[in-house]
This record gives sequence, structure tokens and C-alpha cells, in this order.
Amino acid sequence: MAATQADAGHFLAPPGGCSEVKVTTVAPDHYKVESTQQVGTGGYYLLLKLTGLKGRAVTIDLCGAPFDGWGCPVGQYGYVSDLGQLAGFESPPEPATQPAAAASLPVSSASAPVRPEYRARPRTGDLAALPDTSRQAWHFFSGVHREPGTLALKQTFTEDTAYLAFRVPYTPEYNQNYLARLLGNPNVEVIEIGKSNAGRPLQLVKTRGTSEDETRKPCVLIYAREHCDEQDSSWIAQGAIDFLASNDPQAQALREQCTFLVVPLLDPDGAVAGVHAHIISGFGPGDETPDSLLYAAWFKKWVDEGKRLDIALNLHNPPLSAAFHVACPMMEPELERLGDCMALHASVRGALTAAGYQVRNTPWTTGHLTPRLCGWLAKCFGTLPLPYEVNSATPKRQLNLAEVRGIGRAMVLGSAQFVSSDPGKTLLAQVDEVRQRRSAGWTAMAGRLPAGNPIAAEVLVAQNVSLAAKTIGPASAPAPPPGKNIRAEVSDAPAGDTR
Ligand SMILES: [Zn+2]
Repeated sequence: MAATQADAGHFLAPPGGCSEVKVTTVAPDHYKVESTQQVGTGGYYLLLKLTGLKGRAVTIDLCGAPFDGWGCPVGQYGYVSDLGQLAGFESPPEPATQPAAAASLPVSSASAPVRPEYRARPRTGDLAALPDTSRQAWHFFSGVHREPGTLALKQTFTEDTAYLAFRVPYTPEYNQNYLARLLGNPNVEVIEIGKSNAGRPLQLVKTRGTSEDETRKPCVLIYAREHCDEQDSSWIAQGAIDFLASNDPQAQALREQCTFLVVPLLDPDGAVAGVHAHIISGFGPGDETPDSLLYAAWFKKWVDEGKRLDIALNLHNPPLSAAFHVACPMMEPELERLGDCMALHASVRGALTAAGYQVRNTPWTTGHLTPRLCGWLAKCFGTLPLPYEVNSATPKRQLNLAEVRGIGRAMVLGSAQFVSSDPGKTLLAQVDEVRQRRSAGWTAMAGRLPAGNPIAAEVLVAQNVSLAAKTIGPASAPAPPPGKNIRAEVSDAPAGDTR
């Protein structure tokens, strides 16, 4: 077996970037994989290209950090020679969105939770609990065993070349090919917001509708990969798009009810570079990037045209050891907004649990995600932000790729249900109020806002509007200076939970 890292994403460990691995031969068909860098146990993503496999029963030992902190997830392999091609990731057109018989699955023998949201993994992977992948392109290893410091995988391969992955990779090249396939779809359109700093397209999918539709209908934004390496999140966004682009009568009804905007890969340059964080904090004044400015300009224009933007679901991955499929790490703290977040989450959770996914009820914490896209939208336009951590590798029930995609469908259903509910209508009225104040703020501050920087300009307006509201003074009260003080609002989920 030869393992090459040249075209693989390696494994990734926060807070830095991509780390290569060293592969040594222990015995014929038995290999040892180690990190070449000292990393924390949070690193959780592995991608390795394997060649010369056909007909061989191979054992791969993943040794040391970060693998010793992964519990006992079962790795996946796909007979894929080019990660950019669609063929390597196809699954049945109607995915099994219900993790079959989830209720009857064996429960991990390990009991005492390390913390409320985590459980220790069994020492040996429960292969009986794995979903069927017979009609899919990615499969679980047939053997997995955890020993202290080592996670061992076994598989007899029938083809020569495969990728080994913990979390199926979703690359920018694949994303472009996937979105190209949607061109001409009668139900959705692919919009190029601009070119990234390195010349890659920044793309967004929108359900089709007239401008009048878009000023009237509630609008849900779903975006993935503000953390560039969190692969599961893109598959969920893709699942949402596949559903919305389909002729499913339920999807048709949702398209008539709402506008959906979906970004499957927010930061293609960061993804190619193999880093964890790149664009993520680029939506705070002083930290803008060329790409974040392009996104911000697009959303500003959308709002200036009177189009709605009510909810932003922001998709992430937790460490592999997380014991849930979906959890919300953070909600906004103000009572009214917290209530909005709770109601939205209840609706999304309802759709997910009805489909058999394991979802945490409550967030870990409250706070603002101000320098991120969803936080900037919230601060400036009143959009309700809800980050989600999604894990395909929970100990009780790992998900196959079709099931990961199915999470996106459930999130679409749940968020659409929310905006048509009474709490949802209350949110829409709150958003309208914020936008009216914003319009007044822009009028009052005309000529005093930085041209060509929609991020800083909108934050100045939002601060001014907020200050004016507090002092019950005129909307033209002097704007506070922009600066790093905005960053003080930023908080994140507990260490190790939100990567
Ligand atoms: Zn993340």
C-alpha cells in the first residue's frame, strides 16, 4: 500500500491548519499512521489516499494525537480517484433520510457521560449499528478497534485506489461541479457573488422567484464552511439544495412559501489551503477580507432591494467524539431573541428527530457571533442567527452520506415551519423593525459612512441606531468609532465543542 498526501487534505487540527501524516509499515498489509506535528486532541478530520490496494486485507493503525482523542468512530473509504468528480459521491436519488430503526439500535455499553453532551465511546466500534451503504460510493471499514493510543481499521479492498476519510470530503472543485449541474434547474438558480481572492467562484444557490416574491416571502439562509475544513456541513447544505431543487411536492410548497439561500462552501480558498479558520472573522470591522466584503456587498444589496433575510443557519462540525448528530452551540442572549432562537431550534429539532436524528435540546451557551457572517447579518439586518454543530460519527449511530444529506432536508422543513408559525411571524415583525431603523440610520448618516466597505458601514449604522434607541435621542446621534471593541462581543462554544 502506498499512502500519498499530495492531493489529500491530510488531517486538520485547530486552531492551525493542515497537518501531514507519516505512514510506516509495521508488517505486510499492516501500516501505522501518525501525525507529524504535535497537535491537540481536537483534530478530527482525516483524508488519506491509498493505492495498490486491490485484493489486500489491510490494517491501518492511527496512532497518537489527535487520533487517541477520537473515541472509536468507524472510518469510511470510497473508491474514488478524483475528489472533484461527482461520480465519487453519488447516492440514491431519494436518500434514506430516516436513520433506519434508530430507536432500536443498541446503546453504547459505556454509561457515565464525560460531560452532559458527551459519552465515552465503546472500546470497539459497534459495527452492527452502521447504516447500509450498499448503494452508495462511500463505505465503512469492516473492522475497527480502539486500544490505548491507537485506533485500528481493517478492510479488504476490491479496487486499487481509495480514499480513507473520517468525514467524507467535500472539495471546492467538487462544489463547482455540483453547482454546474444545477444550471438550468427550473427550481433553483446558482448565483456567483464574485471571485475569491485566489480567483475561485463564491457561489450561492437561491430558490427561483421574482423580486416581488423575495420582498414578500420569509427568507432562510443556510451556509456551510465558515470553518473551511468542516466537511459534514457542506453535505448538509447540499442535501438542502437537492431537496429544494427537486420536484418533490413538499419542496414545491416550501418554495412557494419561502425564499431559500444556500451557500455550500463559504470559503473555497481556505478549504484549498487546508486551514481551519480563514474567512470566519472577516465580517468584523478591521478584519475584512476581499471575500467577506464581496459577500457583505451582496447581502447589503439584497436588503437594499427590500428583500427579506430572516434566518441564518450556520453549519459546523464538532469533534468526532460528540454524542449527537445535531446541536446548537449558541443562541443570542437577549430574552426576546433567545425566545426566537429557542422556537426556531424547536422547529428544526422537531423535523430532525422525526427523521430519526439525535438532536440536543438546549444550546451550550448564549452570545453573539458578531464578526462572522451570521452575526453581522444579525447585528445589521436583524436576521436571526442559529449555528449548528453536525456530527456524522456519533457513537450510537454513524450516518452514511445520504443520511448526512438528509439533515439538510430536515433543516429546510423545520426552518420553513418556523417562519410560518406565530413565533416566526413575531420574528418577521422584529426584523421589519430593525430594517426600518437601519434605513433611517443610513439616511441620518449619509455621507459619513465608509464607501466600499459594507461591513464597516453597516456596523456603524447599527451602532448608531442602537445608541440612538438607548438615549431616545435623534437617529443622527454621533456614531461611535469603529474598532476592535466590537470583537468583545464575540464568544464561542466551549473549547473543544465548536471548532
Ligand atoms: Zn466550526
